[in-house]
Amino acid sequence: MSDTVVTRFAPSPTGFLHIGGARTALFNWAFARANQGKFLLRIEDTDKARSTQEAIEAIKQGLSWLELTPDEEPVFQSQQQDRHIEIAKQLLEAGHAYRSYATESEIEAIRTKAREDGVAARYPGRDEPIAEEFLEQSVVRFKAPIKGKTTIHDQVQGDVTIANDQLDDLVLLRSDGTPTYMLAVVVDDHDMGITHVIRGDDHLTNCARQIQIYEALGWTLPTFAHIPLIHGDDGAKLSKRHGALGAEQYQTMGYLAEAMRNYLARLGWAHGDEEIIPTDKLIEWFDLKGINKAPARLDIEKLQHINGHYIRNSDESTLITEIAALIEKDDFGQELTYDKHLIDLDTLKQSLPFLSERSKTLVELLNSAKYLYQSIPLSFDAKATKILDKDQVPEILKGLKNELENCPKWEKEDIERLLKQFAAAKGLKFGQIAPPLRAILTGSTVSPGIYDVLYSLGQQESLKRIEAFF
Ligand code: GLU
Repeated sequence: MSDTVVTRFAPSPTGFLHIGGARTALFNWAFARANQGKFLLRIEDTDKARSTQEAIEAIKQGLSWLELTPDEEPVFQSQQQDRHIEIAKQLLEAGHAYRSYATESEIEAIRTKAREDGVAARYPGRDEPIAEEFLEQSVVRFKAPIKGKTTIHDQVQGDVTIANDQLDDLVLLRSDGTPTYMLAVVVDDHDMGITHVIRGDDHLTNCARQIQIYEALGWTLPTFAHIPLIHGDDGAKLSKRHGALGAEQYQTMGYLAEAMRNYLARLGWAHGDEEIIPTDKLIEWFDLKGINKAPARLDIEKLQHINGHYIRNSDESTLITEIAALIEKDDFGQELTYDKHLIDLDTLKQSLPFLSERSKTLVELLNSAKYLYQSIPLSFDAKATKILDKDQVPEILKGLKNELENCPKWEKEDIERLLKQFAAAKGLKFGQIAPPLRAILTGSTVSPGIYDVLYSLGQQESLKRIEAFF
């Protein structure tokens, strides 16, 4: 057996790729990359009633946005059924499984009794074969060991030991002959050569049962690492209420894929005190030792902080590409404050150096660029209207217009010098001239720096907007 690391992400396609799933995928991907291994995708679509094509697409798109590309074509669990059945039969023949039949009420009674006795349930057929007449309706159950214990040597949780008398004889094949998840996951992980299973710790108890199946089959165990689930900022298990959205929704909210990878990596994994971990560093540093035992908390402010960092530090063409993809997706909801068709990427690109300085998300960046795309007459928000209503404003704006008309060179420094000279000459504070100027140029009281606004609009457009006041 080669010692190449092989990991997998094994989502059930019953919904979008949620943030916990995205993090599991990232950890598996990063661990494979860090060890020059392979990262595989397995779609666990055996639950036909709940699996949808839409969910499969959403998962693939979420992974693709995050650039967590599997190294091989995805495996569909439902297509491996014959193999799962073959292994169940092998277990039957080896005496590690049995055919069992009991009515629902009998099963209920067995379970109640087992609970009272403080042990896991065992079912008819385990000790002697069931009657022939029930064979057709029977299920195949795993004949789990009763004595001893099963220990998971978990890379995150440490050794977790469960007494075997607490693990019941689970169903491997249902009465219609279809395999259960617990069988399928073991067979698939084995057949795909998975060396490391990294997944949420909600699978920890399942894991003990899976280990028993591996052992019955004489198969080598993969290394297990169960990651604590993500909690909301109030410490409760994450739900939609906490902003537990689909990974792709973070894209539409204006997060960069690399920032998202950085944030997700830090959500339960650490490398010293590093907060900013670009993807190349993640691949260099990622290890199982760095995974925290305590649940991580979703912290949107931190995500925004990290995103702001990547926005400031991305080159212009990367930002333009991401913004173009965002516009293409056409899913701004209420977030974009103006019509996306107005956006002109060339104009935007020229203003990126200062727009990117202040924006925590790409949507925020686009919103701060709104003034670039407005046409006369501008619409003024309430605060801007109030500022423009002040008595001395017409005179200030008239004076400014004259100065700006005569600005010899439309460069930021020249504009700045000119405005400062004007304020000094008129005995005005800068705080008296910038707000009305900002209001008349942008229709708002929040905007990038006033020199940047003037410079980016250009001399002609700036003058036109001021003139429109009179
Ligand atoms: N399909 C399972 C889930 O989505 C994951 C199984 C596994 O990782 O072993 O929760």
